[in-house]
Amino acid sequence: DYQLSQRVNAIQPSPTLAVTQKAAELRAAGHDIIGLGVGEPDFDTPEFIKTAAKQAIDAGKTKYTAVDGINELKQAVINKFQRDNGLTFDAKQIIISAGGKHSIFNLLTAWLDAGDEVVIPAPYWVSYPDMVKLVGAKPVIVSAGIEQRFKISAEQLEQAITPRTKLLFLNSPSNPSGTAYTADELKALAEVLRRHPQVLVASDDMYEHILWQPNSFANLAMVAPDLLERIVILSGVSKAYAMTGWRIGYAAGPTALIKAMVKVQSQSTSNPCSISQYAAAAALEGDQSCIDEMLQAFKQRHDYLVEALNAIDGVACIAGDGTFYTFADIRSLIKKADASDDIALCERLLTDAKVALVPGSAFGAPGYCRLSFATDLETLKQAVARIKAFSESL
Ligand code: PLP
Repeated sequence: DYQLSQRVNAIQPSPTLAVTQKAAELRAAGHDIIGLGVGEPDFDTPEFIKTAAKQAIDAGKTKYTAVDGINELKQAVINKFQRDNGLTFDAKQIIISAGGKHSIFNLLTAWLDAGDEVVIPAPYWVSYPDMVKLVGAKPVIVSAGIEQRFKISAEQLEQAITPRTKLLFLNSPSNPSGTAYTADELKALAEVLRRHPQVLVASDDMYEHILWQPNSFANLAMVAPDLLERIVILSGVSKAYAMTGWRIGYAAGPTALIKAMVKVQSQSTSNPCSISQYAAAAALEGDQSCIDEMLQAFKQRHDYLVEALNAIDGVACIAGDGTFYTFADIRSLIKKADASDDIALCERLLTDAKVALVPGSAFGAPGYCRLSFATDLETLKQAVARIKAFSESL
């Protein structure tokens, strides 16, 4: 028996990866499982990005780089923020990490002490609470249901903040809900934050580009520039450019904080993969129409899925603003199936209907489930037919 650390015993393995693994096991055992659990685009990384990586290898860019990333990529990130968000950063305000998750981890390690509170709106990205616990801090969950489009109000934020609150997570557009905060909603949150200067904001913009409405993206830094010294923007190339396996994320924020994050990274992973960094620079600087092609497919699937799910007895969902997820309200289906909760229902959907979904509990929202539409339309139609048949069989 190993006496593991209290820190590691306090956390769970990622439940979304667990669903994917369970589905893979059933498939390996000969079952015909449709997986709607995955959190990555089903598209291949665009060719021009792969070419940049091959060129980097041939040019011998295969050694350690600066801990915080190569100049070419940091400049590409600076250009991206100027171009897309009208935000001006200098190189000392940027860190390149091994994926968006790694950027988040660096921030939490650099910013939080044991007992500090972190406000996390639910439904939340699965990893936030466990990552917060891993550094000894305390997640404070604020729930927003389907009736408020899964977005917290200014009043809810005000109530959740205490003198111990050191961080607020905002993720818009959101994994898992697919909804995004409007500029006005963010302004209302900013009003609250102005009254609580001890609170830093982690703005997770990972899905910035996967939004149906053109030019509708807003983050807190764009609507409340007076709060810039208290905002760290976290993003990466994983979702927008179908580069999940390359492991490149980045963060932009106040120089002193970024410097502390670089220190953490220097004593843990050092620089992210040199070759991936050149590929990511090409992605950010290259022709952005590659995003539009994926976006159109996601939108088409989204429109189909939302309508088809609403036609199933026991399932309700709202049209999202972006991402490749929809977060369905399955409370009626849970009752109809006489299941104890969303976890039990998703298990039955897996074994009986042979469709893999992630239960809402994994995102802090019991009674719901997340369906990913990072899968072709034909597969989605089959999955819907199976869930419908399941509901009708009850
Ligand atoms: N933030 C959100 C909201 C995500 O959904 C993800 C990936 O699922 C990440 C961050 C992490 O992305 P990466 O794969 O670059 O670590």
